[in-house]
Amino acid sequence: MMQYDKARIDPKRRAGLDYKKKQFASPNYKQQDYAHRLNFYEVPPTEEITLEQFEQWAIDRLRVLSELETCSYRNKTPAETAAHIAPILQKFLPLSANTSSSSGIDERLKNERKKDHYSHFILRLAFSSTEDLRRRFARLETMLFRFRFQQDDGKERRAFIENLNFHWDIVPEEEKRELSEDLLATTGFKRLEDESWFKVDWDKVPELVERRGVFLRKGKAYVPMREQLSMILAEFTARLERALEFTSRALPRLDEDDRLMPILEHLSHNFGTSDSTYSEGEGSVPGAPITAASVDALSQHFPLCMRNLHIQLRKNAHLKHFGRLQYTLFLKGIGLTLDDCILFWRQSFRGFTDDEFNSKYKYNIRHSYGDVGGDSNRRGRGYPPYSCQKILTDNSPGAGQTHGCPYRHFSVDNLMTLLQSVGVNDKEVLRGVKEDVSKTRFHIACNRVFEWSHKAEIKKVRDEGTWSQSDLDTIVHPNTYFKRSYLLKNLGKVPKDVEMTT
Ligand code: SF4
Repeated sequence: MMQYDKARIDPKRRAGLDYKKKQFASPNYKQQDYAHRLNFYEVPPTEEITLEQFEQWAIDRLRVLSELETCSYRNKTPAETAAHIAPILQKFLPLSANTSSSSGIDERLKNERKKDHYSHFILRLAFSSTEDLRRRFARLETMLFRFRFQQDDGKERRAFIENLNFHWDIVPEEEKRELSEDLLATTGFKRLEDESWFKVDWDKVPELVERRGVFLRKGKAYVPMREQLSMILAEFTARLERALEFTSRALPRLDEDDRLMPILEHLSHNFGTSDSTYSEGEGSVPGAPITAASVDALSQHFPLCMRNLHIQLRKNAHLKHFGRLQYTLFLKGIGLTLDDCILFWRQSFRGFTDDEFNSKYKYNIRHSYGDVGGDSNRRGRGYPPYSCQKILTDNSPGAGQTHGCPYRHFSVDNLMTLLQSVGVNDKEVLRGVKEDVSKTRFHIACNRVFEWSHKAEIKKVRDEGTWSQSDLDTIVHPNTYFKRSYLLKNLGKVPKDVEMTT
């Protein structure tokens, strides 16, 4: 797959390769003709590409997947997602229909499909190492496939499906008539004759089973033709999940290659902490009084995760490591300087002597700001503040720990108590939060509380037309929560040039 620099491999190491590695090093070559625009990614690529293409194609695909993930976190409708993603796909990963070329599958179509094919497999390598990465990758790839499938030319789509050889059992007419009542009742169709049904193992269509859209009998789900998309997507996800498992087992063999591993690690790290919705400095409000002494007053603008950390800090004059890290990075993100941050923690940790504080805690604060340690990329900048996605999915808090997201990590009772203690006492809002949390829509619960706490101000900027709809998009980052809250509560007082512009 790569242009391989044979001279780089020590002959002794080559001789020491075991038979599995030899198999890995000599892939079976299968020429791809890319007859279809869509791809189930069943056959790995084996042609040579350059190292630059390897990296650039993967980065381009990652951009598309990150944007899709952002749309889903922002709860955008399918139509809004389609409008958002279409130009991004066109720019980074175009995939044209056969009908766009008058001369068959020409070079342009082949190159587009090749890039799509290779970039999928490169990211598969990068994102197969942990269960969390595998799950996210499969979910986003399925979203991308769904989007492309729906956009595809009807004739080409049919040809693609036929080529997949799914071997789904068509329900014979006799059986269809025998089950007619059940089939009509579960689907809500009026007439039996107009529809064909497939029989598949019920666990192949979990989405349909969950919404009771299919009739079940003897372990089989009876799926109407018009639900074909669900079946194809379920099949796509299942095959990809299996392939990712398989790739994760093969991954250690890649250790032989000291050029690919750094690229793959870099890609997966960016995906793990990626936040395409937040860039450095975005959460701060220039000119606002952000000092060690003002954090107490500013905490009214903090989202519940940071509010909780602040409350716990004031109560116990201490926070454990991950709580300190989450809170320090957030404070850095709102614009607290390193000196003020050290002062803030020093004053907060009342029970410690200067020596204890300096030896146990000060280094980590400086490290978060990039003042010490870290690799050269991070020096001077440190680490970015955590996004909701990272807080929600990384490292759940254990006993005595206070980091994480209360909507995700608190019991419902404790969450209600915390919300009421910070003044959220509207019964409708609390009921809505409970419902969001029960559906694992944690950031939606957080946005619900934000909208309630700022409803007068939101109405004002809407009525006056001073903020656009995108200024009020669903919040997916604690620092965006802070900035938006601060600006809304200080309308007219904050200089115009720092008001929301994105
Ligand atoms: Fe914090 Fe995000 Fe959770 Fe809100 S949803 S509390 S901002 S982690």
